[in-house]
Amino acid sequence: MKKVVKFGGSSLASAEQFKKVADIIHADKERRYVVPSAPGKRFSGDTKVTDMLYGCYHLAEEGKNFSKELAAIEARYQEIIDGLALSLSLKDEFKTIEKNFKEKAGENYAASRGEYLNGIIMAAYLGYEFVDAAQVIRFDENGDFDAEITNRILSERLSDLKQAVIPGFYGSYEDGRVKTFSRGGSDITGSIVARAVKADVYENWTDVSGFLIADPRIIKDPEGIETITYRELRELSYMGASVLHEDAIFPVRSQGIPINIRNTNRPGDEGTWIVESTCQKSKYVITGIAGKKGFCSVNIDKAMMNSEIGFGRKVLQAFEDYGISFEHVPSGIDTMTVFVHQDEFMDKEQKVVSAIHRLAEPDSVDIEADLALVAVVGRGMKSTRGTAGRIFSALAHANVNVKMIDQGSSELNIIIGVANEDFEAAIKAIYDIFVVAQL
Ligand code: ASP
Repeated sequence: MKKVVKFGGSSLASAEQFKKVADIIHADKERRYVVPSAPGKRFSGDTKVTDMLYGCYHLAEEGKNFSKELAAIEARYQEIIDGLALSLSLKDEFKTIEKNFKEKAGENYAASRGEYLNGIIMAAYLGYEFVDAAQVIRFDENGDFDAEITNRILSERLSDLKQAVIPGFYGSYEDGRVKTFSRGGSDITGSIVARAVKADVYENWTDVSGFLIADPRIIKDPEGIETITYRELRELSYMGASVLHEDAIFPVRSQGIPINIRNTNRPGDEGTWIVESTCQKSKYVITGIAGKKGFCSVNIDKAMMNSEIGFGRKVLQAFEDYGISFEHVPSGIDTMTVFVHQDEFMDKEQKVVSAIHRLAEPDSVDIEADLALVAVVGRGMKSTRGTAGRIFSALAHANVNVKMIDQGSSELNIIIGVANEDFEAAIKAIYDIFVVAQL
């Protein structure tokens, strides 16, 4: 059996955290491939090393002196090395970094050093081989991750290594220039490594015990999610739940490798399992609730719209012409509503409205702002009658006016539009009826 373990920045922020990580790795000999992030925050108000690197490099780019800032980064690593009583020295590495910063090696190179150096420390501490991600994770000339070439190079490189540390977050172009993923991208590296070694599980260690049914800023101490499918997770992450980088599921999903989200500070917790498919019923009918504020609805009326072929296309063309993506398009007999992000739409609204008039010749166009969308997600809804009824009666009891309802035919989620100011009350009402009422 093989496990790939990725540790996030807060799990590696100090020597004390490194020790917890080593205990976790040593507790299971199948934990053979380790993907570290850069050191994160040690306390609230602290700065992540990645952010320090970006800041330091910007000074270098402007031709300003950055020695104090670079020394502060070096001190963060030295504190970890000393706390672990390692004899390792990063002096030469920092000399190279200073030289490359002066030569303006690029922001991607700068940011990647956080994971690179943490990987060197981690490998020394564990006695594992260090594999520089720049040699095994490949991007194409457009800057897109090249999954197939990477998989070939990486699986070959790791095939004769029993144990290895591969830093997260970056790789390189064919010519060797370093390129990073977007922020939080070490999650993606972990997934890529899991695919390359055909791992049995990809463990993603962070500072929470997995996914929660609802946002803890809205619901006090919400219940955790034991098992969630990739599709449910996509729905929830899209609507704002964030524990794992959105792109991290793709490499493992194609191979049927499950992801287990775990808590470095509570290693005894089972965490959340993310799987392709499962016959495990979730404890509640719903798996999770998520949502976002800040939407606008554009309501378009036209008599006899239902019999006009191409009407919807013309309306959506108006949005496309101004580069605005739409979220949902519920429609009626003589009406069609397009939900868009308010901040994207605001500056272009009059142009879009006149384009709708020009292209689709509606009777009227009406805009409503300050709306929120709430997604209730659950594979269990398909086989349970009355879910929608329970949601709407809970909302009615909480005095929340429902402005939009959208249920896809997959019956995996129900999306509800409410006023921004009703957002929290709506989530609370839904959580109460499905979770609290069943506890
Ligand atoms: N260190 C990078 C960041 O702060 C990547 C990661 O932690 O996953 O975004």
